[in-house]
Amino acid sequence: MSHHYLRFNDVHYRYPNGFEALGGVSLCITHGEKVALVGANGAGKSTLLLHTNGLLMPSSGEVVVGGITLTRKTVNLVRQSVGLVFQDPDNQLFMPTVEEDVAFGPSNMGLTAGEIESRVVEALEAVGALGLRKQSPYHLSGGQKKSVSIATVLSMGPSILVLDEPTANLDPRARRQTIELLGRFSHTMLVATHDMELVWELCPRTLAMQGGRIVADGTTRSVFNDTELLEACGLERPCRMEQPGQRSCRSSGR
Ligand code: ADP
Repeated sequence: MSHHYLRFNDVHYRYPNGFEALGGVSLCITHGEKVALVGANGAGKSTLLLHTNGLLMPSSGEVVVGGITLTRKTVNLVRQSVGLVFQDPDNQLFMPTVEEDVAFGPSNMGLTAGEIESRVVEALEAVGALGLRKQSPYHLSGGQKKSVSIATVLSMGPSILVLDEPTANLDPRARRQTIELLGRFSHTMLVATHDMELVWELCPRTLAMQGGRIVADGTTRSVFNDTELLEACGLERPCRMEQPGQRSCRSSGR
């Protein structure tokens, strides 16, 4: 198996209305890497993420996950290794209770009741939400919903976590908790976000998108130091980067 866990080879994607949202995306993400995907609204980030687990299939080019080329035949296999967390938890949570939502994925994997239960407990513990297991997802706060939606994906035992705007619509405390939660995971991660502090704290590597193409792929520091690129992509450098001695700057060693 290639050490590249996720590979896009010249992926083009056209929506049914004919709009080309991906215009030849190539990228490689290696096991254990944490990679940010940044770019202005409409750059194609969500479209790219939807290709990582076959919710969208390339119009041309290929997506390879863990050495398996994504096709209609392999899509179910690939979905066991790519956990996609949607921006809006309401798109991820649909069962009457939290524990049923977290059990949903494992239940479709042919596991025993005991195995399902241990996955539910482990995933909810990982996001600090075991105490919510009997609650209705509809009655949770935004931050709790986000944690539980991450647990619904963790319970599948994915090799790579793909997150679309994990801190969008969260209040400052829930945002901070979500960043810290993600910082504790050792998973390979691809995170599309406008939250530049999250990028700085979590992701040593950043991909920048513009007009359906990757226009930069490098260390987060090099991307953030490229003022022209930031302006072209409608991005702002995080203010924390300007303040030496912040925990985020020290701990990342950058
Ligand atoms: P981002 O996540 O970076 O904001 P998207 O991937 O959502 O970008 O969108 C990329 C482009 O594709 C945008 O121009 C958007 O309007 C277009 N697009 C997104 N979804 C559809 C769709 N279902 N049909 C047609 N065009 C779409």
